[in-house]
Amino acid sequence: MKRRKALINTAGLAGISALTAKNAFTADIETARFGNVIIPHEKEMGKEKHVPIIDAPSRVKAGEPFMVTVEVGKTVPHPNTVEHHIKWIQLYALEEGSQYVVNVGTFEFFPTFSAPKVTLPVMIQKNSTLYALEHCNLHGVWDYSVKVEVE
Ligand code: FE
Repeated sequence: MKRRKALINTAGLAGISALTAKNAFTADIETARFGNVIIPHEKEMGKEKHVPIIDAPSRVKAGEPFMVTVEVGKTVPHPNTVEHHIKWIQLYALEEGSQYVVNVGTFEFFPTFSAPKVTLPVMIQKNSTLYALEHCNLHGVWDYSVKVEVE
């Protein structure tokens, strides 16, 4: 639930799925070359408004779809104006034993017309960690993760 200090630009986002797990979701993310969005200090931003909370079952059946919801501002709503809004949410999966992070879905929002909440069916074959990233146009990129076990 710690906010990443990754530097991300939209042109480089497609490339994140090709990164190895080590590069994308460990401390190395802070040094990854994603682009040029400057991230202000976490204490000033309101973590509860920004963290992309994942709602997913903790146990699922291999290869069977289960629903995953990612929501920003679940407990404290985030502003949704042209000046200050959530631009996108991305969901990634990392299977146990794999070194590859897979981009499961990418969702872009238009301020005032769409809310930063998405639900999608996901399928995994092995125990996995799901990672969500979101981008606030003023406060940068935030992340969250949950583990999902396969029965
Ligand atoms: Fe914000």
